[in-house]
Amino acid sequence: MGFEDKRIAIVGGGLGGMSFLNAALYAGLKNVQLYEQAPQFAEVGAGVNITSNANRVLDAFGLKESMTRRSSHKLPCYMEYHNYKTGDYLGHVDEFSNPPARLLHRAHLLESLKERVPESSFNLGKRLTSIGRNSSESSAPYTLHFEDGSSAEADIVIGCDGIKSNVRLDMGLGDSPNYSGQVVYRGFVDYKDLPDETAQLLRKTVNFRGPKRHVLILPIGNRETQTDRAAIIAFMSEPIESWDSESWMSRSDIESLHEHVRDWCPQVQDIIAGLRAASPDGRMLKQALYVRDPLEKWYEMNSEQTDAGIVLLGDSAHSTLPHQGQGTCMAIESGIALATILRHWKTNDLEAAFKFYQDLRKPRTDRVTRTSEEAGKLASSESPDQMTGNFNPETLMGRMKWIMEYNVLEDLRTKGAQSLDFQGSRL
Ligand SMILES: Cc1cc2nc3c(=O)[nH]c(=O)nc-3n(C[C@H](O)[C@H](O)[C@H](O)COP(=O)(O)OP(=O)(O)OC[C@H]3O[C@@H](n4cnc5c(N)ncnc54)[C@H](O)[C@@H]3O)c2cc1C
Repeated sequence: MGFEDKRIAIVGGGLGGMSFLNAALYAGLKNVQLYEQAPQFAEVGAGVNITSNANRVLDAFGLKESMTRRSSHKLPCYMEYHNYKTGDYLGHVDEFSNPPARLLHRAHLLESLKERVPESSFNLGKRLTSIGRNSSESSAPYTLHFEDGSSAEADIVIGCDGIKSNVRLDMGLGDSPNYSGQVVYRGFVDYKDLPDETAQLLRKTVNFRGPKRHVLILPIGNRETQTDRAAIIAFMSEPIESWDSESWMSRSDIESLHEHVRDWCPQVQDIIAGLRAASPDGRMLKQALYVRDPLEKWYEMNSEQTDAGIVLLGDSAHSTLPHQGQGTCMAIESGIALATILRHWKTNDLEAAFKFYQDLRKPRTDRVTRTSEEAGKLASSESPDQMTGNFNPETLMGRMKWIMEYNVLEDLRTKGAQSLDFQGSRL
């Protein structure tokens, strides 16, 4: 049974939508099309950290070699902490998960996710404007309408269109996202543009914690493929009133970040100089960080057909602040969960399948949303100097361990034993 042959439409080809497409292929869903608004696949922003809980899934898809080729190799620890004023070493958290975290450029992760899926399943330049709910006499329960005047039919629609999701809005969920109080400046520094000692330091994942601000450095890529760079992710508290762009994302003068960290340690000044050297127009990406409250219900059923419906995945369903580096990882976990459930559900009761997906995923994503917000407050606390005396790697590791040790494949096997028919499954 299951929904193997149903026409499934994915709206959004970001890291969530592309992860679901890989999961659909892995699970054996046969009729899946992805619609992305951009004319080309692209990921803006800096690097991304993919932790073991998600790497287990990507490895199952067969992407281990591809990911390893594009990621940083053999990082000495999970994170090292430094005093923002003096630059002094405060302590570190050892790498504690297996497979270890992989740090890479966002665009390179997208390339890996594109590798195994047929191009015939991508539809670019398709911005969804609305979803038509059709009568049972129609040729399909849903019609997706795009900005260019074209349309597409589907039995199941999966909204992977991010925190500002149109699919979510179309489902009548008009709640407003909340401003976190912070903006994030994102850019890259070439190691050649840094003094040797700073370059050596920034080949580790380093966090400079300052008052209501912190600067995180992810060493992405590797020397072998000449993709190694330091991705700079600087979280700064700013009132939203000072925001000068209608969009949440804009390009800002590097000077505006420098204003925040002018009296920080020499290594941070080296970073500012490195950002300037890498940016011909002296500007970098600046994004206001928003998050939504956890959503009560992630799906909507078709009023006439029990095997048709709309469901959310990724930031559209469970947006989270980036302080535990888990938004993409949660989308990857949710992707394999939803694809497996749709392929192996024992009956044709789609509502029961959607409910099972939500029940499996929501307690975990709600907890990640909550703890990520807490982690952000800890990382940008009012008095980071206290940390020098109270630094406790065990506590920091404990905050993340439950996230990394989780295995969604195992959870599906255990909790799905009654409702899923695993015959022919690759789980
Ligand atoms: C500073 C920062 C650092 C982060 N670091 C990490 C990290 O290290 N690790 C991690 O796991 N997560 C991290 N995240 C979170 C991660 O970026 C997101 O959770 C993840 O990208 C969500 O993917 P998504 O596909 O659900 O949404 P998005 O990435 O927003 O993708 C949505 C896609 O849908 C398309 N789209 C939108 N509207 C339409 C429409 N109407 N029609 C068609 N297409 C549409 C968009 O063009 C886009 O391609 C970070 C986030 C931030 C802000």
